Amino acid sequence: MSEPTNVPVVGSSTVNIRNLSIKCGNCDTYQTLSHFHRRDEDWNVYTYECENDVCDSAVTRTYLEVPVDLDEFANRDPDWRGGRIHAGAE
Ligand SMILES: [Zn+2]
Repeated sequence: MSEPTNVPVVGSSTVNIRNLSIKCGNCDTYQTLSHFHRRDEDWNVYTYECENDVCDSAVTRTYLEVPVDLDEFANRDPDWRGGRIHAGAE
């Protein structure tokens, strides 16, 4: 098997995180988007956490990384910065 590479994928579909759901393998409930940041200019990183008393969010936290060029949600949603505030981003 060949290693995956980072060559740009021509004609690839964009990604909209609104179309995804992040489910915790520990408590079996859906995690909530809590933070957003940019990593290395090329990646948008969305942080999801459990919001219940079952999981320690510091342990079960999920980082969903989307290539900036393909990130339809961050690129097209004009209200996203406001959304960041509501999501608890600093
Ligand atoms: Zn959980």
